[in-house]
Amino acid sequence: MDAHLHFPQSHAIDAYGGGSLMAWLDSAIFPAESRLERRELAEVMALSFVSRRAAAGTTAAMVVGSAFPAAQDALVEAHLKAGLRLVTGRGIQTVGPVSAAALLTSEDDAIALSRAEIERWHGADTDPTVPASRALVQIALVPRFSPSVTPATLRALGELYDEVRADGVYFHTHLNEDASGEIAAVREGFGVERYLDTYDGRMPGGASPSLLGRRSVMAHGVHCRDDELARLAETGTSIAHCPLSQRFLGTGTMPWRRTLEAGVTIALGTDIGAGDKWHIPTVAAGAYRSHVSDERDPVALGPADLLFAATLGGARALDQEEVFGNLDVGKEADFVLVDPRREQSLDLALEGGERSPDAHVAERQELFTLLMGMTEHTIRGTYVRGRRVTPA
Ligand SMILES: [Zn+2]
Repeated sequence: MDAHLHFPQSHAIDAYGGGSLMAWLDSAIFPAESRLERRELAEVMALSFVSRRAAAGTTAAMVVGSAFPAAQDALVEAHLKAGLRLVTGRGIQTVGPVSAAALLTSEDDAIALSRAEIERWHGADTDPTVPASRALVQIALVPRFSPSVTPATLRALGELYDEVRADGVYFHTHLNEDASGEIAAVREGFGVERYLDTYDGRMPGGASPSLLGRRSVMAHGVHCRDDELARLAETGTSIAHCPLSQRFLGTGTMPWRRTLEAGVTIALGTDIGAGDKWHIPTVAAGAYRSHVSDERDPVALGPADLLFAATLGGARALDQEEVFGNLDVGKEADFVLVDPRREQSLDLALEGGERSPDAHVAERQELFTLLMGMTEHTIRGTYVRGRRVTPA
């Protein structure tokens, strides 16, 4: 389960951006995303996006979408054809630098386009007897992050979300990723002390409907205050943790223990294109390495922590843990078939590694080795609802 990645950045992995989030967006990402205005390119990218997901074994994903509705159509159609789970929403941006000009819309159009996307695609693969909240394809409201929209846009999104929340529509965005440029921009631009308040209907000038809830997922959360974590937990809002991306952009490391102890669900995200690995176990192995050497909040994650965040934790973040995420009786059969012998060094480590005489400990040791050493190459098949995913 990949709780955060960007469709329109999937051709811009490892883009040089000068080492800061805001500069990377301005110099590399906004121009790259603008190229999806060409429908032919978007179609090619949608097919490749689906085949990369299938190869990496990502059965469900929360995907930040393109600003261009035709590109979003291509993305959804490719997923429907392949049979992969998808939550996505058009990337909303109503303000930005010159480099983002092609991605901007008026505030009214931003709301109208999101509304149209929900009507067209939310639950599109189910018949009317099945709730949209159980469908393979579902839609989210996705402002890129607060600095890319105005207070009025966030208020209007809150009002729209109030209308569609009961149908299982999601909310997805970034939160507290970068301590320098991004958070300062939110504080100055919105006149708030807490970044989260901008998504929670608590901006100067009067209260508006909150965008937080059990179907709301915030990417990163590296620099949350204690009262922000408490509010995420209270509302059932989850964090998509993207350790490889955080290391690429130098934004710090999400404090694992503090976040978890606050009661917030942590899922894992690749954050393609700031992250460059599509394979969630590789992200989990990166999380282990990040947190064992995190000076603020050091913790050696165990194999169960890593496996949970990569699977059921992701399903919980999507408020779908009753539907998929493990192999419990009654759930839909989403799974990945792995053959460790396809990776020689992993095969050797599983065969030759020291194992405790205590069977329970030995099992944990083996699972840890598997999670740390598994590569995409070991995947023999990706299955959703028991059906093998076959990208075009
Ligand atoms: Zn992101």
